[in-house]
Amino acid sequence: MKDTAPPRALVIGGSLAGLFTATALRAIGWRVDVFERSPSMLDSRGGGIVLQPDVVQAFRFAGIAHAGALGVRSGDRIFLDRHGQVLQRMAMPQTQTSWSLVHGTLARALPEDTVHRGETLEGFETQGHTVTARFASGRVAQGDLLVGADGPLSTVRATLLPQLAPTYAGYTAWRGLLPERALPDRSSDQLTGSFAFQDGPDFQFLAYLVPGPDESTTPGQRRWNWVWHRRLDAGAPLDAAMTDIHGRRRAYSVPPGALRPQVAQDLRDAARAHLAPSFADMVTATEEPFAQAITDLRVPWMVFGRTVVLGDAAFIPRPHTAGGAAKAAADAMALAQALRASSNIDQALAGWNRAQMRVGTAMCDRGIALGNSIVGLGGAQR
Ligand SMILES: Cc1cc2nc3c(=O)[nH]c(=O)nc-3n(C[C@H](O)[C@H](O)[C@H](O)COP(=O)(O)OP(=O)(O)OC[C@H]3O[C@@H](n4cnc5c(N)ncnc54)[C@H](O)[C@@H]3O)c2cc1C
Repeated sequence: MKDTAPPRALVIGGSLAGLFTATALRAIGWRVDVFERSPSMLDSRGGGIVLQPDVVQAFRFAGIAHAGALGVRSGDRIFLDRHGQVLQRMAMPQTQTSWSLVHGTLARALPEDTVHRGETLEGFETQGHTVTARFASGRVAQGDLLVGADGPLSTVRATLLPQLAPTYAGYTAWRGLLPERALPDRSSDQLTGSFAFQDGPDFQFLAYLVPGPDESTTPGQRRWNWVWHRRLDAGAPLDAAMTDIHGRRRAYSVPPGALRPQVAQDLRDAARAHLAPSFADMVTATEEPFAQAITDLRVPWMVFGRTVVLGDAAFIPRPHTAGGAAKAAADAMALAQALRASSNIDQALAGWNRAQMRVGTAMCDRGIALGNSIVGLGGAQR
């Protein structure tokens, strides 16, 4: 008897790319299972994200409504000097949101039994049109499509392209979130309503308001999000920054609460020495700063038979493109649109690959040029 059930996708990774993919594929009638390594909700981490049109369109495509505002509006971009003088002000209205608001909105749109937490992909095989995935728990799942949305250190990509790994770009993003009211009045008076920058000879600092931990956009209940891109040489300096409070050398990021006290103190001292007073206030008032080494990665193609990679598993755009979340949304939506438009899955995937390779390549190129000029690097360190 012919199987008339809708096709099934196995999505590896339950962060933004995985949940954008799950909501988009469900919207075109596919059955979807998401397998996420982390046993708990991922909602306690993550900072600010510029709300790009692709994210809003992906919500719309999947029929997702959000009860309140999706983010905090800023009107101007301002550029401060070391002493806090406004060097330049330009009208540039935009909306900033938080990783947790986007992730929470997607997670609530999925039926409870869609995301399987605490499941780590170990390997997979393809036979004909069926992909079989094996997990550390002993679980085995079969589907018509395997989606590697498992991030920069993707197991799916490592299986298919074992030689390819992210390369350090020569600088690190130090980041923090703090309650809106934790910033002294003199600083919040200067910064509220703006997307604020300070450009140094080899760094860039930026800050803006994002929703509160409960997704509130009510004044007083929001959070300040800051990012400080600073040159940091590979080798001993990077090793020191990426070694956490337990002495473990992390690959590319140290989460909130895991920076060594000395590293956090050095950051606060550097803030007082180099940043405008409002920005220095922000850094010194942040209880748990965190760090993300900036890396580059691009795959030569995104489709491998019935397995695809997308989001950060395929391309890691530099943060200056404000495009990581948006690209994950665009990859997922384009995949669903391609699969809806053709009854032949393999043809649909081939077309999707061509289009999204162009998008990913262009975004990475733009990000590398922007990032290297911001921190004064001549070329990407490869
Ligand atoms: C906790 C967290 C906070 C973040 N905060 C921000 C932010 O504030 N601002 C921003 O712009 N971007 C943030 N990002 C990155 C942002 O999510 C990405 O740039 C973008 O959304 C695309 O990422 P991704 O979903 O492809 O990969 P990732 O976000 O890296 O997610 C990959 C997921 O795959 C899971 N995974 C990895 N290997 C396996 C495996 N073998 N089996 C099962 N699961 C696996 C990981 O646990 C992870 O949840 C954050 C990511 C995470 C995980």
